[in-house]
Order: sequence, then C-alpha cells, then structure tokens
Amino acid sequence: MGKECDILIVGSGVAGLTLALKLSKFARVVVITKKGADDTATARAQGGIATVLDSSDDFKYHIQDTIDAGAGLCNSHVVETIISSGPGSIRELVNLGARFTTSDGENLDLGREGGHSHRRIVHAQDMTGREIHRVLLETALNSDNIEIYENHTALNLVTNHQLGSTEKFDTSDYKCFGCYVHDADTGEVFSWTAKSVTLASGGAGKVYRYTSNPDVATGAGIAIAYRAGADIANMEFIQFHPTCLYHPEAKSFLISEAVRGEGGILRTLDGAPFMEKYHHSKDLAPRDIVARAIDSELKTKGDDHVLLDITHLPARQVIDRFPNIYQMCLEYGFDMTKDPLPVVPAAHYLCGGVVTDLDGRTSIPGLYACGEVACTGLHGANRLPSNSLLESLVMADRIARAIERSWTETSRVKLPSIPDWDPGGSVDSDEMIVIKHNWDEIRSTMSNYVGIVRSNRRLKRATHRIELLRQEVNEYYWNFRITRELIELRNIVTVAETIVRCATRRKESRGLHFTLDYPETDSNQRSDTVITIRDEVTK
Ligand SMILES: Cc1cc2nc3c(=O)[nH]c(=O)nc-3n(C[C@H](O)[C@H](O)[C@H](O)COP(=O)(O)OP(=O)(O)OC[C@H]3O[C@@H](n4cnc5c(N)ncnc54)[C@H](O)[C@@H]3O)c2cc1C
Repeated sequence: MGKECDILIVGSGVAGLTLALKLSKFARVVVITKKGADDTATARAQGGIATVLDSSDDFKYHIQDTIDAGAGLCNSHVVETIISSGPGSIRELVNLGARFTTSDGENLDLGREGGHSHRRIVHAQDMTGREIHRVLLETALNSDNIEIYENHTALNLVTNHQLGSTEKFDTSDYKCFGCYVHDADTGEVFSWTAKSVTLASGGAGKVYRYTSNPDVATGAGIAIAYRAGADIANMEFIQFHPTCLYHPEAKSFLISEAVRGEGGILRTLDGAPFMEKYHHSKDLAPRDIVARAIDSELKTKGDDHVLLDITHLPARQVIDRFPNIYQMCLEYGFDMTKDPLPVVPAAHYLCGGVVTDLDGRTSIPGLYACGEVACTGLHGANRLPSNSLLESLVMADRIARAIERSWTETSRVKLPSIPDWDPGGSVDSDEMIVIKHNWDEIRSTMSNYVGIVRSNRRLKRATHRIELLRQEVNEYYWNFRITRELIELRNIVTVAETIVRCATRRKESRGLHFTLDYPETDSNQRSDTVITIRDEVTK
C-alpha cells in the first residue's frame, strides 16, 4: 500500500532539514533518511560556512575567489546570487539558536581558508557541521508539520512514464510524483507519492576506496535522477583531500592540512621527501597539487600509502597544536610524535550532480535537488572551501520560495494512483559476499582508473569493468529480495558510470579533472559536461 504526503524530501542533512523547516510553514513535509537522522556529511563538516561579514570584505571579492577556484566553469549569475544571500542565511541560523564561535562574545569570529582572499569563515570551533545539524534537527523535531522517517531509503522515482518502455522517450508531459521507498525495519518497498519531491541526498564519496564522507554518501540522488532521465552534469570534478589516515578501520579520518602547515613533510615509504618535484611551495602546495603528487608517487612505486612526518617537531608542540588528531591517531595505534603517519588521498566533495536552475528545479517537472547532490553552477570545475554549506542553505531557501509561489495551484493537483512495487525476486540472496566483492571492485576500479590522475587508457579500462559490474549488479537486483545494501550497490555502480562517462567526454585538463593525455586546459572546451540516460536509451 502506498503513502501520500504534500512534500517529500530525501535526506536529513543541512539541505533537507533547512528546506523542510521553510516548507513546513505552509505544507506537510515528510523527510526520509537512509539511516539515523544525523548520519550525514553535514554533521562532519569542520571548517565552516563562507560568507561576507567583515568590514574589509566585499561580495565582489568572495565572488571573484569562487570564480577563480571554478576554473572557468562557474555560472557567474548563480555565483553572485548565492554569495550575496550568504549573510541572511547565517542570520537565520543564529536566530534558530546556532552557537557560532565569537571573537569577543558578540561578533562572529571569521576564519580564513585556502583560496579565500579575506577572513569570512563562520564556524563553531572545528565542529561547525555538528552545530548546524543540531539546531536544524531540534527545530524540525519540534515542528508539527514535519515527520522524519529514519531507515527509509528512496530507491526510484515515481513518474508517469517508465523510461525505456517506449522506443522513443517523450518528455513533453513527463512528471515526478514521488518515490519508491524501502523500509529497512520491515523490508517492505512501497510508493510515497507527493506533490513535490526534493532530492537532498548528499554526495558520492563512497564510490572511491578512501573518502572523508560518511557511509550514507552513495550518490543515491544522482543515480535515482539519472535512471529517471534527468540531466546530470560535471561528474568528472571530484575533490580529493590529500591526507586521510591509511588504516583499515579509519577509512574516513582526515589528517588536517594544518599538519603540513606546521612543518609536516610528505615522504615515500623509503623515507624520501617528494613534494619538491611537484611544486615550489613543496608540502604547502595547493590541495589539488598535493593530492596529484601523492597519487603519482603511489602509481609509480606501486605502494599503498605515503607517510606524513612531523616527528622532527618537539612532541609537546605537536600534542598542543593537534590534540584531536593526536588522540585519534593514538587510538588507531599511531603516535604521531614518534612515527610518521600513513596517509592516502580521499574523495571529499562532488562538484557535479543533478542539474538545477537557481530555484532548484531539475529537468524533470515536480523534482527538485538541493545540496551536494545538485549541480547549480556555483562550483564549476573546483569548489572553494566552505562554499558548500552556504550553497545548501541559500538554495533551500530559494526552493522553498519557488514551491510556495505555486503552492495554491500545486496543492490542488490530484495525485495518480501508483502501481505497487514489482518485487522482482523474492528470494533472499545467499551470497552477501558477492555484494561486498562487487562493491570492492567498483571502488578499486574507480580509485585505480578514475581517481586523481586519469588517462584515455585508464578510462577505457574503467568503462569496460563498470559495464560488466553493472550487468552483474542488475542481475542481482532483479533476482533477489531488495535490501539496503543491494540498493546502494546499484546506485554506486550507476554513479560510477556517470563519472566515467563525464570524464571520458572531457578531452582536456581543467580544475579537478586531470588527464595525462590532455594535460592542458583548452579554452574551446569551456562548458559543462551534461549527460542523460536518454542518450543511451534512444540511441
Ligand atoms: C569531513 C567533511 C568536512 C567538510 N567540511 C566542510 C566545511 O567546513 N564547509 C563546507 O561548506 N562544507 C564542508 N563539507 C561538505 C559539506 O559538509 C557537504 O557538502 C554538505 O554537508 C552536504 O549537505 P547535504 O544536506 O547535501 O548532504 P548530507 O549532509 O550528506 O545529507 C544527505 C542525507 O541524505 C540521506 N540519503 C542518502 N541517500 C538516501 C536515500 N537513497 N534515501 C534516503 N535518504 C538518503 C543521508 O542518509 C543523509 O541524511 C565537508 C564534508 C566532509 C565529509
């Protein structure tokens, strides 16, 4: 039996919860979330939110910094709109009760990060995301108009056409009416119809072997939208953090760039420093260059990791400056005052995603996207640090206003009756290990061939392997009882396919996409890589 609501939001991070709070003023909102409500990238964000508040700063500087980072692909109108709305979003969070760090008990303390020409990072110590998420979730839980369902996973959109069921796909009356949802507690799949659906399902770091992202970051929204025929763009632009602790149980523990800032030296396993070969600033080179240099050393030597060495500093100084990192590393068995830390680069942020306009509308009527899942045009080919929380806050506000403007009309729409989910296979898979192996293979393929440094040959290998894995995963998907693991596996393989397709399409190096075959930026290719599954279905 299906369920019905006014508005359905997929995801309980900063994007989903901010949007829910705004929409709850005039509609009944349901938020579904894959695991616990605070299993989000949002709750992990450390640095803060970039916005112009300092008297020496100006919107024009923040706009320019964003455009410079984006390597020619930012949409300047989008950048101007989002950046100039930042201070209002911060005020709203403060009014909700967010406790940001102040410099004097009253004025917000503004930090500075790489790529920013001015101090403009609003933060709550180094746990900004946790504080934002706390205040948003508390407020949402107190709202009579918001219901949050944990352990509920969106698996497909409900639309009025089955893609691929007709020879030629007709988009003229295409519309989204909701989602098919899997309840992990009962194992049931049912339809949840709604007058408006927003994907706020976050990023896709889990497509790579190492990532700073939480386990829920499997790119579900992108896969779901892609399968339904939405435009997807710029998936080749994946930001990697250079130094994540290399340890089987600590796959997402970041070692802050400040460790290199304090004198930490990157070395190969034989102890040789290597950054001087790649940049005159050596270990203090920009994030992308350091990540690329580590990747190059790993691929050349065939090693699994490199070392980050700060043992030459007095132990007391290291412990005082990095109490958290020191403690966490000790728990994993490393004393960073005595031993160099094993590190690898980790997938951190996805600049591409589901294409939206400035009101969050995707190419499928009735479907919006907000937050890391969306590609608005703000980041272009590389994200300026701390612009992503800002984007989520501003876009949630704009989507809420857009939905409100047409709500009288939208709320009158009669929702169609939806066929029950075709369960496909109803037999439990007795081969959980195969799911794990497929997942490992996808992540190895993506890390080895579609990571920080790409080439035609690597992309071709990835294309073949991902296609094979896609066939295997589909066979599983349709023959066995649906589980969250199977849904995630299917999404991950779809996301991998979109990344490989976009990366193969771009015959130049730009921003976060670097390929050995076209190492230069080509001004003739200054455009987004837009793909849709319809290219495949109709060709
Ligand atoms: C370690 C780390 C540090 C960061 N630091 C900063 C920073 O300092 N400043 C900054 O601006 N950005 C930072 N970022 C990036 C920023 O945190 C994210 O871009 C942002 O929080 C994304 O918010 P979101 O709401 O789009 O997604 P998320 O917060 O990831 O939320 C996604 C939600 O969707 C749910 N979901 C996913 N798939 C499904 C599905 N199929 N069905 C139902 N629910 C689903 C998830 O369970 C989750 O609740 C950081 C990211 C990380 C990982």
